Amino acid sequence: MGKSKRQVLEEAEEKNVKFIRLQFTDILGIVKNVSIPIDQLKKALDEGIWFDGSSIEGFVRIQESDMRLNPDPNTFAVLPWRNNGEDEPMTARLICDVERPNGDPFKGDPRYVLKKAERKAKKMGYKFYSGPEPEFFVFEKENGSASLKTHDAGGYFDLAPKDLAQDLRRDIILTLENMGFEIEASHHEVAEGQHEIDFKYAQGLKTADNIATFRMVVRAIAEMNNLHGTFMPKPIAGINGSGMHTHISLFKNGENAFYDKTDEYSLSETAYHFLAGLIEHAPAITAITNPIVNSYKRLIPGYEAPIYMAWSDVNRSALIRIPGVEKSEGKRLEYRSPDPSCNPYLALSVLLQAGLDGIEKQLTPPDPVKENIYELTEQKMEEYGIQTLPENLKQAVTALENDEVILNALGEHVAQKFIEAKKHEWDQYKAHVSKWETKEYLEKY
Ligand code: GLU
Ligand code: MG
Ligand code: MG
Repeated sequence: MGKSKRQVLEEAEEKNVKFIRLQFTDILGIVKNVSIPIDQLKKALDEGIWFDGSSIEGFVRIQESDMRLNPDPNTFAVLPWRNNGEDEPMTARLICDVERPNGDPFKGDPRYVLKKAERKAKKMGYKFYSGPEPEFFVFEKENGSASLKTHDAGGYFDLAPKDLAQDLRRDIILTLENMGFEIEASHHEVAEGQHEIDFKYAQGLKTADNIATFRMVVRAIAEMNNLHGTFMPKPIAGINGSGMHTHISLFKNGENAFYDKTDEYSLSETAYHFLAGLIEHAPAITAITNPIVNSYKRLIPGYEAPIYMAWSDVNRSALIRIPGVEKSEGKRLEYRSPDPSCNPYLALSVLLQAGLDGIEKQLTPPDPVKENIYELTEQKMEEYGIQTLPENLKQAVTALENDEVILNALGEHVAQKFIEAKKHEWDQYKAHVSKWETKEYLEKY
């Protein structure tokens, strides 16, 4: 059950909290904070706190800059790494909704966008659940800045002594547990310096809040160890990148609406429609789930990242996998393209809305693909009608501009600001001459 305002005030006092960070996320997924002293907490909970929205990327113009942060009491958590000893003052955080001066929700708030999607699901009778698998790299610092030197030489599921990052991972997990996370699994990933920590699935909004918090914790704990934790999708060419596979399910009347034991894959009609919606809107979704130029360096063959808009029960080269869980409660779809640089609120919003669109329009998915798609010939691909995901940010943004369902999912304000920012990012990238080019061409031509 949720926390009341009174419980938050009591807990803050009990735990010697002296500062509160009011936290929210901008359109590009960057976490912002406004810090208040403890004596302002009651007022913040009762009336919200005013701030100047014009300083936040993609929020509002100067003329309409007054905005209010309305803290969600359920999100109160003490930041365990912010204290140095028993009697030290503590810092806590509260995740906030962003509101207009008249109390209306601000349509540029990514949390609002996700609430809107969940409201729609609810109207259709569904509760939306999601569980992410965020991967990240940890690098050494050199002269105070992040380097590309990994601080271990471990591989997938390796244990000590090679997995030097085990202690770091344990610190991260203890901190997360301290903040109320239920950790399901953690391991070294395939690449050097790469890790994955999975936490328990939850309803959409909670999961998005969790992802935002998770990224903050990983970076903070790495920093405390003089290391740099990064969610950049492909920091090093030639080895695996970092993904954030996203597991999705819908529940109706307390039952998993994706489960049907009579089906070959134990998927229900609802699940098939949802899956079809995901594939139908995958190109536009990609702009949101893979939002930076670097995201597309990960989506290439050979590194366990998906490239093809197909689904499969086992095959990891497909965009959507059906994890082999026979029990009804665990039946879900695993959408494998997202990377951890995405705005988690917007990513879950577009995934949910795409699936709901599939249900509403009763879309039918293509047949599953059983072979390893990386190894299919072009002729076979054509025969199966398998298409590829956008190959770069530009293609993805164009797909987004042409997809009414996903544009509506974002709402006009977010869609417009997002597209504007991404076009600018692409233009800057386009004008850049890379090391690869000079190496390849400078002497040849
Ligand atoms: N790192 C891979 C990716 O980019 C995923 C590896 C895995 O299956 O966990 O998606
Ligand atoms: Mg993984
Ligand atoms: Mg996975």
